Amino acid sequence: MINKERAINKFLELVQIDSVSFNERDVAEYLINHFSELGYEVLEDKISNERVPLSNTGNVIVKIPGKGALATEETLILEAHMDTVEPGNGVKPLMTEDGKYIVSDGSTILGADDKAGIAQILEVEAVLRENDLAHPPLEFLFTIGEEVAILGAFAVDTNLLQGKIAFVLDGSGGPGTAIIGGPDYYDITGQIIGKAAHAGVAPDSGISSIQVMAEAISNMKLLKIDENTTTNIGKVICDYPTNVIPESTTFALEVRSLDQESGKKQLDHIVEELQNAANKFGAKLKYDINQSLYAYHHSEDNPVIQRYKQMCERHNLEYQGLVMRGGTDVSGLTFNGIDAIVLAAGGEYGHELQERLIIDEFLENTQQVLWLVTE
Ligand SMILES: [Zn+2]
Repeated sequence: MINKERAINKFLELVQIDSVSFNERDVAEYLINHFSELGYEVLEDKISNERVPLSNTGNVIVKIPGKGALATEETLILEAHMDTVEPGNGVKPLMTEDGKYIVSDGSTILGADDKAGIAQILEVEAVLRENDLAHPPLEFLFTIGEEVAILGAFAVDTNLLQGKIAFVLDGSGGPGTAIIGGPDYYDITGQIIGKAAHAGVAPDSGISSIQVMAEAISNMKLLKIDENTTTNIGKVICDYPTNVIPESTTFALEVRSLDQESGKKQLDHIVEELQNAANKFGAKLKYDINQSLYAYHHSEDNPVIQRYKQMCERHNLEYQGLVMRGGTDVSGLTFNGIDAIVLAAGGEYGHELQERLIIDEFLENTQQVLWLVTE
């Protein structure tokens, strides 16, 4: 029932609409027009745009009323993000000679991440409509700013959504693959403030901020902390002439964890070592902690996983539930009380110039979405 040519053409059309993060307006308008013309209720999520003022649009939500025997079942959300990474403007998609892949001309990314997900949703809607298939009420959610810390999914106006279960079409792999867990993510930035003095003339009256930082680092547990938790220092900046005891050192590090408790414990440990070192030398510590992702790890009996696994069983797909330390829109949706998992869309090598759409996988993954909403 999937119309291969139409699905691929929609994908080709979508990747040629520029939508680098914060400039998603043209794709938003394309979707608003497409679904409005079909007579559906289309909502522009103004709240999300207020919360993400850097973007030139908000999230887009489309409501598809339920049909037939499944019309009164629980609402399902299908989700994909509208933005792409750079270089993502002026994409010229090409099909490889063997007909297996769609690639860019090599000067830009392709944008299968996540136009493949959007194209799947467009195709699924078309198939439902053409064949008058029974399905539960559906909500399509198209988000902004996913590539910039999942901004749109965190900012979504939940008053506009009925659904409590979502399938985020934004992964790689074939049918059966789902991402069912993601991390807590903390950014820790700060400054050690010591005291400047002439290194040769008055070394005793100075406090070396770099020495304090070194003391703190040498006492920190770093890199792989346990099965779930990692920590990395990305930046330590201190740049003075050698005859000056360096007053200020700034730093940035991250802690991420699939386990809330372990992540918090590690975060406390980092702050404690920084503070201990500052105290030891009489320096001051300033820091800021920003949590941009929230851990989720759905148990196997979670309704969204149950639903997915049952579909896999019916169609002999090998279910694979993966846990990933990177962020996806699921973090934002989970934060907003919506149970979600990521399903494969069909792209590969996202964020790279050799990004490509694996045509067969893209179509098979579209078929699995159709099964999910019609059974
Ligand atoms: Zn993506």
